[in-house]
Amino acid sequence: MSVLKQFAAGLADGSIRVVDLTQPLGPDTPVIGLPDIFGQSPGLSIDVISRYDDAGPGWYWNTLTLGEHTGTHFDAPVHWVTGKDHPNNTTETIPASKLVAPACVLDCSTESAANPDFLLTPDWIERWEAQHGRIPAGSWVLMRTDWSKRVGADAFLNIDENGPHSPGFHKTASEMLAKERDVIGVGVETIGTDAGQAGGFDPPFPNHTIMHGAGKLGLASLCNLDQLPATGAIVFAAPLKIVDGSGSPLRVLALA
Ligand code: MN
Repeated sequence: MSVLKQFAAGLADGSIRVVDLTQPLGPDTPVIGLPDIFGQSPGLSIDVISRYDDAGPGWYWNTLTLGEHTGTHFDAPVHWVTGKDHPNNTTETIPASKLVAPACVLDCSTESAANPDFLLTPDWIERWEAQHGRIPAGSWVLMRTDWSKRVGADAFLNIDENGPHSPGFHKTASEMLAKERDVIGVGVETIGTDAGQAGGFDPPFPNHTIMHGAGKLGLASLCNLDQLPATGAIVFAAPLKIVDGSGSPLRVLALA
């Protein structure tokens, strides 16, 4: 039997599960806020064009207004200044072959519950690898924090007088994953692929800086990572093919 026939049989008999890693996208979906001196990315607004009414008696459709980086979304390398000169660095030029890839799921949920500013380190990754094997080149690294289980924008953004607090990557971990492991990118459950406090790190937003500088991809606001095995899942993460796009909301699915 061919691999794809076996695959179809696995889908049909339920031995392969399809896990939705995507948050619902609506007007209440939280968006990242930047200091006032910078431009702000709007959340989603939906305007009805017609809904079986005078504007369109037989059809329903909407106009969407939103930032590219809203809700569960994809970061292309061109999103960051360090990735601006890479070839095929936009949503419409990234090769389709990069949009389907295996995943390693690093469960940092205990650490993140204890410390919302938890940063993944190379030591932590090496301990994971001692148990599960070396992270293969071309894999997604998905950082499970259970952050997606936080209910409401306040708990999700977790902002106090010192700014947002949410887990992320120490810059040395981003360097390791991008350069020594040659991952395809990293995915997180938080609003962006950097820690909440990362605007004050050196460099600011080190994960974006390092990953996109190495031509790597990003996924933010994922969920259901607790339904994936540590290794062996396949992730489908295909952004909208926006011309010169820096990213896009998307439906992320995993086979497990
Ligand atoms: Mn983004």
